[in-house]
Amino acid sequence: MSGPHESIALHPQSCTSCMLCVRECPDWCITVEAHSAPDPDAPQYSNARRPAMKNVLDSFEIDFSHCMWCGICIDVCPFDALHWSAQPLVASTERDGLIYPVERLIENLPLAKRPDGSAAPQIDEPPSGRRKK
Ligand code: SF4
Ligand code: SF4
Repeated sequence: MSGPHESIALHPQSCTSCMLCVRECPDWCITVEAHSAPDPDAPQYSNARRPAMKNVLDSFEIDFSHCMWCGICIDVCPFDALHWSAQPLVASTERDGLIYPVERLIENLPLAKRPDGSAAPQIDEPPSGRRKK
């Protein structure tokens, strides 16, 4: 692991809504909502019986009031979407203030790093497609 682990960043373009992080988080901190839609980038086959579908992310939240910084969500994400960030959490006396939606998780991206020390994909970048080793 590299750098300070103050918070977690999400690169939403890389998230496929696979739900692995949701299932593996020991404290049930992560909530993901998504829906299926036809995938405009999928290859078109003349004998296809139905259109190829993809998950579209509707919302993603991490409840840092329950998080124990174990890093399991980051380790299990196969799509390079979750990263440790050196961006400190914003202190809050309200529990809801520690529930970070996508809009706040992307603010952690500029200081986010992969385990190998390289910069995490930034918000203006397309899905990295990179899979962890
Ligand atoms: S670091 Fe651990 S406790 Fe926190 S959201 Fe990820 S899996 Fe859950
Ligand atoms: S494991 Fe990664 S790709 Fe899957 S839902 Fe979580 S952040 Fe998204």
